[in-house]
Amino acid sequence: LRFHDLNIPDRILKSISEMGFEYCSEIQAESLPMTLQGYDIIGQAQTGTGKTAAFLIAMISDFLDYPLEEKRANNFARGLIIAPTRELALQIAEDAVKLTSNCALNVVALVGGLSYEQQKAAVATENVDILVATPGRLLDFARSRRVQLGKVECLVLDEADRMLSMGFIPDVKSIIRMTPHKESRQTMLFSATFPKDVQVLARQWTYFPKEVSV
Ligand code: AMP
Repeated sequence: LRFHDLNIPDRILKSISEMGFEYCSEIQAESLPMTLQGYDIIGQAQTGTGKTAAFLIAMISDFLDYPLEEKRANNFARGLIIAPTRELALQIAEDAVKLTSNCALNVVALVGGLSYEQQKAAVATENVDILVATPGRLLDFARSRRVQLGKVECLVLDEADRMLSMGFIPDVKSIIRMTPHKESRQTMLFSATFPKDVQVLARQWTYFPKEVSV
């Protein structure tokens, strides 16, 4: 399956070819036909499978298909991606910047261990269209209303099993409670493994999800 065969806006297809991608990886070929239609997804996939581009392409396509009509403050996130580690979050943010290179969507990263002041300035001045974050720093910024999660249209939970083993689930639950109900957002959850507790959380957080596994 080629990216051109899917219902992806031209501006994203352009960025995809600039990244050197032509054919979908397995996880992309299985998930994109459903996520591009707005379905929630629970995906079993490891790093290296192309899962990052899979969820980013679905998210960005949705934002381009449905431009914002209302005016809102710059610090309302449209897309929220939560990842367990700073390295993973920054890698996702880097891919998001590449995939949005031909459209007017801004990417902001909020991660622990990086300058608090710099990140405060970023959310105060930039449009937080796509927010990529680790749980602790995000919860801090959301509680102090530096970022607003009440209008999130698309939520991604990456490496859910690691968020569980690293003890982040209470923070992630608090964050998800600040986003719209699952009926009114798209949720994509990825995990390398699905022990019972991850399965339970995946069910709680998604709405009639499609399941894919690679
Ligand atoms: P990920 O599993 O998201 O960490 O991606 C693994 C690597 O595969 C990254 O370096 C991506 O840039 C690359 N990649 C993702 N999708 C494709 C694709 N369709 N074709 C070629 N490379 C890809």
